Amino acid sequence: LSEADKIYLLNSVREIEDFPKPGIKFKDITTLLGDAKAFTLLIDHGDAKAFTLLIDHLVDRYSTMKIDYIAGIESRGFIFGAALAARLKTRFVPIRKPGKLPYTTISEKYSLEYGVDEVCIHIDAFSAITTSKPRVLLIDDLIATGGTATAAVNLINKAGAECVEACFVINLTFLQGDLDIKKTTSVYSVLEV
Ligand code: AMP
Repeated sequence: LSEADKIYLLNSVREIEDFPKPGIKFKDITTLLGDAKAFTLLIDHGDAKAFTLLIDHLVDRYSTMKIDYIAGIESRGFIFGAALAARLKTRFVPIRKPGKLPYTTISEKYSLEYGVDEVCIHIDAFSAITTSKPRVLLIDDLIATGGTATAAVNLINKAGAECVEACFVINLTFLQGDLDIKKTTSVYSVLEV
């Protein structure tokens, strides 16, 4: 991506102050998906739309990496992950919050500022590949503290696959949430703020 493309994408993300609670600046990617005009007029970008610009870029990056599965984290990771999986003609696996997946699951707990949370995956999520260890790309819209994504990487490993990269559309770098994940897998962030 060129610097102009990155600025275009960043400008397509709307920031909502104090959502979902006071002090949080929520990065609202629905405006990137819908490419709301007000946010993209800043740069003349021909016919390009933020979402397709982003997915085209991810297709370029991952088309040669022999990805067997794309695992998306609920819920915005589903949007980017499913679009990318369809373009790469690969499989999509949802990583979800407890109580959402209908079949037998395995799970991984992680700490929040106050309390714990948990992510789950179907026990047979990666069973279509039997000849070698399935290669999984993890994707989410944003990494903040990294708790969710670190738990998701652990979950992918627990389920018998290898997480070859964790990909985020936005990395809130001041929180250094990628430090833990980088110990076990590579991390790619399209946009850093
Ligand atoms: P964390 O576990 O702290 O890295 O939080 C990452 C998860 O929470 C991702 O699934 C994000 O979608 C969501 N999230 C956390 N902080 C924000 C934020 N400032 N704006 C948008 N989404 C966020």
